Amino acid sequence: MSLAQFRHWVFDMDGTLTIAVHDFAAIRRALDIPPEDDILHHLAVLPEDEASAKHAWLLEHERELALNARPAPGALELVRELRGRGCRLGILTRNAHELALVTLEAIGLGDCFAAEDVLGRGEAPPKPHPGGLLHLAQQWRVLPESMVMVGDYRFDLDCGRAAGTRTVLVNLPENPWPELVDWYARDCGELLALARL
Ligand SMILES: [Mg+2]
Repeated sequence: MSLAQFRHWVFDMDGTLTIAVHDFAAIRRALDIPPEDDILHHLAVLPEDEASAKHAWLLEHERELALNARPAPGALELVRELRGRGCRLGILTRNAHELALVTLEAIGLGDCFAAEDVLGRGEAPPKPHPGGLLHLAQQWRVLPESMVMVGDYRFDLDCGRAAGTRTVLVNLPENPWPELVDWYARDCGELLALARL
C-alpha cells in the first residue's frame, strides 16, 4: 500500500511538526531530575505537593516554548495538503493538550486538527504506550493498520508498532531504527513527496 492511500494520520508534535526546542537536560536540572530518568515518569511517583509544583513549572516553561514555536521544514505544506484531501489528522504528544493547541495555532495549523483529536499527556498514557493511538482508532472507527504514525523519535515508532499502525520517521539525517520504520523521510517536505506517489 502506498502512503498516498492512507486517510488517517497521527503526528507527534515537538520535533516533528515543529523545530525541536525543548532542552530536556535544562528541564531535568531545573526540576532536580536525574539525567537518566524519564521526566514524566519521575514526576508521576513524587509526593503530591512536589509533583504538582513541578508540573506547574513545566507547564509555564512549555507555554513560553509553545508561543514561540516554529514549523519544521515542509510541515505546513504536508499537513495542509493532507487536510485538503480530506484526511483525518491527529496529534499524539507528551506535551499538555492546551499547549499543543497553542503550538499548532502559533505555527499556523490551528485549523487543521479537531481539538478532540489532539491527545496530550492528560488524555493518553505517554508514548511508547499504544493507548493514544488505540483511542484515536476507536474515535475514528478505523483499524490501526489503516493509520500512519509520524514522528522523530523511537518512542513514536515503538508506539506505532505496539498499536499496529504504520510508522514514518522524519527529521533525522538518517534512519537509526530500520526495524521500526515503514517509511523514512529526511523532513516533512520529503514525506509530502512520498505521500503524493
Ligand atoms: Mg518529537
